[in-house]
Amino acid sequence: MMAIRAATRRLAPRSPASARGFASYEHDNFGTRVIHAGQDPDPLTGAVVPPLVLATTYAQKRAGTLTGTELPSSFGKGFEYSRTGNPTRGCYEMAVAAAEKAAFGLAFSSGMSAIAACTHLLGAGAHVVSSDDVYGGTQRYFRKVCSPQMNQTFSFVDMTDLAAVEASITADTKMLWVETPSNPTLKLTDIAAIAAIAKRHDVLYVVDNTFMSPYFQNPLDLGADVVMHSVTKYMNGHSDVVGGVLATNCPKLEEDLRFIQNGLGGVPAPFDCYMALRGLKTLHLRMQRHGENAMAVAEALEAHAFVSKVAYPGLPSHPQHALATEQMSGYGGMITFWIEGGLDQANAFMENLRLFQLAESLGAVESLAESPAIMTHASVPAEDRAKLGIDDTLVRLSVGCEHVDDLVADVAQALDAASRTL
Ligand SMILES: *Cc1c(COP(=O)(O)O)cnc(C)c1O
Repeated sequence: MMAIRAATRRLAPRSPASARGFASYEHDNFGTRVIHAGQDPDPLTGAVVPPLVLATTYAQKRAGTLTGTELPSSFGKGFEYSRTGNPTRGCYEMAVAAAEKAAFGLAFSSGMSAIAACTHLLGAGAHVVSSDDVYGGTQRYFRKVCSPQMNQTFSFVDMTDLAAVEASITADTKMLWVETPSNPTLKLTDIAAIAAIAKRHDVLYVVDNTFMSPYFQNPLDLGADVVMHSVTKYMNGHSDVVGGVLATNCPKLEEDLRFIQNGLGGVPAPFDCYMALRGLKTLHLRMQRHGENAMAVAEALEAHAFVSKVAYPGLPSHPQHALATEQMSGYGGMITFWIEGGLDQANAFMENLRLFQLAESLGAVESLAESPAIMTHASVPAEDRAKLGIDDTLVRLSVGCEHVDDLVADVAQALDAASRTL
């Protein structure tokens, strides 16, 4: 049966309309989807990996008659100019859609560029309700670019308080922006509950799903209109591509976002698409290991006397552990903890780590540690940081895919070293 299906796939190229990534593989499981969707053998050469097409422009047979309309990677539109459409990008976008079980995927040159596409849907003067402890760069873009330059207004709300979310919606509200789990405090938002509010008020609902990746969480299934990822993190997973994506099931949103993608021009280079597509193929393997390793590290941290508190959604001590188990299929690779002592002890911990590198970013195979107060969240106003509990003793870990025993030992010896500095 499987063999017949596979052979049919090889022999009969699907029509462009049906070959939109997820549609062709919707009955397959995650690992199968990300390895195959958008990645049928190249129709010209049989190459099993989508070719890296660097061309910026495409020869036309007659003026206005585009080449490649029969290729799924052109979405039936053919190729004209590589900002508008590129075969390598098309394959990657189909795989992204399949990862999120979405009808459509759109690729951007960074996560921020994907976020910018969303705010460009709204128009000048729009009001947005956003998670309060949203990614530092998102907050900076909302506050310092959209607000002064597009006259958009933002309410940063604690999304665990559904009444507060509802109360902050005004006649001008055009979008709800949720990031869950949040960064760096790993607070969860009930995705389905916010979807009900978005529906009631008829506003666009976008979820930044970067932290969980599509392997552990699928916001579209829970009622979001658009899901966003910084591909720079887990999706690519190897610290060698900056990228962003959006996925949606709504044809009208896809059309509008596609127009903005081409109009703004924040598209990824073909090589980045090629690399990110390669990274995506092992997302399920990596996420399984990230999750196992993070659980072991979180348990070791919680048991250590020099740690005052640990936030990891997989720990029963996480205040929203039940919600985590309900809306996610795993708990991810990010851990936040508060060390005993002060800034000196946090610094001593980070400087004594041997395997964890002291660096910004997250979600790659190598483990990283950072101080949000000084590094990733330095652009968040100090009083907001204090309100969110982002102080000098908070350390964020991105637990990688190294051997779990080595990671646990590294954290333990760095904690011991930090405790001796007090
Ligand atoms: C990194 C990140 C972004 C921004 O993505 P870039 O690829 O760095 O532009 C947005 N949201 C979250 C949660 C992130 O971690």
